[in-house]
Amino acid sequence: MPVIRMRSAVIYLTERCPLACGYCYFRDKRQHDLSWKVLANFLVLVKREWGSPRSFVISGGEPLMCWDKVKKLVMALRSGFPGADVRMQTNGLMLDRTKIAWLSARGVGLEFGIDGDLGTTARWRRPMDRGMFARLVRNIRAALDAGISCGCTMTVHPDEVARMAENLRFLKGIGLSCVDITPAAFMPWDAARRAAFRAAYVDIVATPALRRMLFTREDREFMPAGLMDISLHPPGDVLLGDAFLCLPGKARKKFSLWDPATGTLRPQMVAYYRRRYALLWKRPSWRTYRDHVSFGFEMVNAMMGRNYLNTRQIVPLMRFMTRVHLSYGHKKISA
Ligand code: SF4
Repeated sequence: MPVIRMRSAVIYLTERCPLACGYCYFRDKRQHDLSWKVLANFLVLVKREWGSPRSFVISGGEPLMCWDKVKKLVMALRSGFPGADVRMQTNGLMLDRTKIAWLSARGVGLEFGIDGDLGTTARWRRPMDRGMFARLVRNIRAALDAGISCGCTMTVHPDEVARMAENLRFLKGIGLSCVDITPAAFMPWDAARRAAFRAAYVDIVATPALRRMLFTREDREFMPAGLMDISLHPPGDVLLGDAFLCLPGKARKKFSLWDPATGTLRPQMVAYYRRRYALLWKRPSWRTYRDHVSFGFEMVNAMMGRNYLNTRQIVPLMRFMTRVHLSYGHKKISA
């Protein structure tokens, strides 16, 4: 029996990225990439401990900074884990028709980082300019035309709350029908901005055409105890889920689940995570995926021994989003 059951594997191929977004959740980005040796060892670990996860997410930094490695990894996933869903998170700027055709032919989905129209996106995704934004929109349309399953993460800075609905309509206009709204962590969500976010979110969800766009997996997927995401971070640390991406490199190493030299799990770290997650499952017996991410945020503060992440501001917002979705009667679906 595996020590922890795996839902998805998130692979951060590189810390490098051509953008420097003001709210980037990857707080301690340097220049590390995952080596192929580490990647190959990780896939062996996944197979040995967890069999076949339902999905793999390839991310960064910007994974297209290492396109050859993306191709090699996708081929390894397609042959080693047939049937698994494979998606790539990208800022979309380094895509071109050749890459789009390659990804389309191999059934790789894309999740773009775009926060709405030029004004909002360029304000936080620096140094995005008009030309880069036009390229991003062109690439999204080309990916959709090529039949790729596309979604996007719309990160909302506290100063952009008033434009949330307008930005959602912009994304709908360029053809995106699946949007994951994420309030930007580490940003100043004071009481007034939190109240404004809640009011704007309620209005959005009350509008059927906009509600249909929301990527509600986070709220609709009820996870049983012990089911978790596993994430691989450069240069070679394994953690549970993407909440831990914001940790400084030293902390990621300290809390890594495996020993990359031997490719085996570290029993004391497995016990650490199991102890911590046991707190999450005390009551009730199920949790939404977003609850799970929120708990990861709280664990980040416990690991750092201080208020590193603004959990008191961000976690209530995430719980509120879940409550709003549940009030629309989404059904419980088993994980
Ligand atoms: S594109 Fe993504 S990884 Fe790059 S700086 Fe922006 S948020 Fe961070």
